[in-house]
Amino acid sequence: MKAQIGVIGLAVMGENIALNIERNGFPIAVYNRSYDKTEKFMETRAQGKQVTPARTLEELVASLESPRRILLMVQAGKPVDAVIDSLKPLLDKGDIIIDGGNSHYPDTERRAVELEKEGLRFFGMGVSGGEEGALWGPSLMPGGDKQTYTLLEPVLRKIAAKADGEDCVTYVGARSAGHFVKMVHNGIEYGDMQLIAEAYDMLRYGLQLSSQEIAEIFTAWNQTELQSYLIEITSHIVNFQDDQSDASGLLLDKILDSAGQKGTGKWTTVAALQIGIPIPTMTAAVDARLLSAQLKTRAAIPNQTALTSALSASEKKERVAAIQAALYASKICSYAQGFHLIQEASHEQQYDIQLDETARIWKAGCIIRAGFLDKIRSAYAKQPDLPHLFLDPSFARDLDERAPAWRNVVQWAAQSRIPMPATSVSLAYYDSLRRERLPANLIQAQRDFFGAHTYQRTDRDGIFHTQWPSLLQK
Ligand code: NAP
Repeated sequence: MKAQIGVIGLAVMGENIALNIERNGFPIAVYNRSYDKTEKFMETRAQGKQVTPARTLEELVASLESPRRILLMVQAGKPVDAVIDSLKPLLDKGDIIIDGGNSHYPDTERRAVELEKEGLRFFGMGVSGGEEGALWGPSLMPGGDKQTYTLLEPVLRKIAAKADGEDCVTYVGARSAGHFVKMVHNGIEYGDMQLIAEAYDMLRYGLQLSSQEIAEIFTAWNQTELQSYLIEITSHIVNFQDDQSDASGLLLDKILDSAGQKGTGKWTTVAALQIGIPIPTMTAAVDARLLSAQLKTRAAIPNQTALTSALSASEKKERVAAIQAALYASKICSYAQGFHLIQEASHEQQYDIQLDETARIWKAGCIIRAGFLDKIRSAYAKQPDLPHLFLDPSFARDLDERAPAWRNVVQWAAQSRIPMPATSVSLAYYDSLRRERLPANLIQAQRDFFGAHTYQRTDRDGIFHTQWPSLLQK
């Protein structure tokens, strides 16, 4: 009997997703560039399962039913091209290659176009949830030809995470749509993590709360509108004791404060700049990681400690509630920016992405899973072409109610010398979108002054240029 799905790449993600597919009743064939990993997999986790090992790509291709469905789980970038180039001559027209790695969407776009010319079908599929998600149910974001999706859907639905009885997978859209949406998912993940880190900084150093108190606050927040995987893991992290050194203490205090990144946050910012949609919360999160990694510069510049003031228990309680409000309001801004970016890219690239479905498939399996995605889903379900989440009455009300506390938090942070870049810029984003008039009129005048770039007027149609005074004639 032939295998139904082929998996190429048996590192963390490939192994786990292969086992997930097999567990759900689809016999698989597996291939890894280095055969020793395949052997090890067969001797350990794949033992006794419906898994056919392939020593060569030829063997893999020969072991699959037609049309072949081959999932690539190899390192993103050149390895994906290398594997596709080796596979192409072995495949028949109509066979399907699915790239489940974190590929950059322009690469997926190029591969989709090239492979279509050769009669092969290509899917770029975002996979979120890490190792555990891959094994027990990831959130899946497949993009490609809609007809072809029907050949993948039965498998993808089975292996995907479940939320409220629904599978966390949908047909995302054409060509690179799946990888675009996965990229924005990661950008939102950066934003969420930074906003949570800023709230933590204020609780710990602004309010001088103990790690036990902070853990309790995050646990309590996880029962509110902030309910999410990232809040939940934070509640465990903040009070986790170090087991690596002799002295007792918090593990967090031993972890170097220099954040790493693999680049998907940066890709989101670059894409947003190119498309022309502002995503300042996510960009602030990328910048904050970059800034944290400037260890030498930070060490060279004289340090200053946070300023704190003595607060009564009730004042502290009030501030904790304000920080919660600021975190939630900023989170709304971040998601509003992410969905706005996806919406604009969908128009520009003709992806035809359903925003309510996007919110739905992020409900489980992925890192940004959160209760409030239901609210985003229902906003876009009610009005699929909603131009911005701030126009949804429920979100507008949430922001309006929290704005006073949010302003207080940003003010306290500035006065306490505690940077809250993502929270502050989210408030500026909210205020900018609501301001009747922005100082862009001055920018237009300056552009016209030094470069004759012209401007439009508020009181009549047309393009105008003013003869400004020449500074050289003075
Ligand atoms: P990885 O470390 O990104 O890649 C290792 C795999 O790629 C190995 O199977 C390796 O084969 C293969 N490979 C590398 N260069 C190759 C080449 N030139 N030709 C053929 N195969 C090559 O593995 P991973 O962490 O499991 O991730 C797989 C993909 O999923 C990546 O795109 C990653 O970004 C994405 N992803 C990862 C996570 C996560 O939590 N790790 C989450 C979501 C998405 P050898 O064994 O022969 O070296």
